[in-house]
Amino acid sequence: MSRFVVAIDGPAGAGKSTTARRVAERLGFLYLDTGAMYRALTWKALEGGIDLADEEALGELAETSRIDIDSEGRGDRLLVDGDDVTEEIRTPEVSRAVSHVAKVPAVRRAMVRLQRAIANEGRFVVEGRDIGTVVFPDADVKVYLEASLEERAERRRRELSDRGVQQTHGELVEEIRRRDEIDSGREDSPLTRADDAGPLDTTGLTIEGQVDEVVRRVRAALEAQR
Ligand code: C5P
Repeated sequence: MSRFVVAIDGPAGAGKSTTARRVAERLGFLYLDTGAMYRALTWKALEGGIDLADEEALGELAETSRIDIDSEGRGDRLLVDGDDVTEEIRTPEVSRAVSHVAKVPAVRRAMVRLQRAIANEGRFVVEGRDIGTVVFPDADVKVYLEASLEERAERRRRELSDRGVQQTHGELVEEIRRRDEIDSGREDSPLTRADDAGPLDTTGLTIEGQVDEVVRRVRAALEAQR
């Protein structure tokens, strides 16, 4: 099957994961969560006691780790060297550390290579920070999700709470603000909207509303390619 990529980028808590997963379900596409890959490496670095300022060690870790996404169509389990760390990568410790790992160029090179290898064939919704700018600059549809910091922190609080992880709204405002700052300010592949990515402000929108809008854009692009 020829390749078709829907790139969904945006800051933490803008609703990328839920939107991307549901859009993929609705359209029968596969789903790739690239943030989960950076989180998996971060988890392994923390487990191994690697100094997060040691770029060489982090690059080496990225080159030598096996990251598998169980994408039996859903892509919702994540394995590092064969261990299922799907739950572990969502802890506050990993969330606080991940941007430090993700700003290392050697780490990004290894992850981008893997992302391209995975989504190079078939129809994919790929979600992250640099998908429309760096990983797939020629994506068929590019969406940039945004929402106010307050709303993003609140959504993240509810999502974590549903999974039994308790963090206060205030803690999350601070964590997300920090993460946005590092992700947008880094030299290699900073978080930014690609010129040709359609912005979608989700403040006040329901998940269904976001999904409907992205599906509408994808259908229009599919129609235009016929
Ligand atoms: O999407 P999620 O919040 O799980 O991403 C975790 C972190 O991984 C981001 O804050 C960012 O530092 C990094 N990331 C990235 N590039 C991507 C996806 C995620 O740098 N494509």
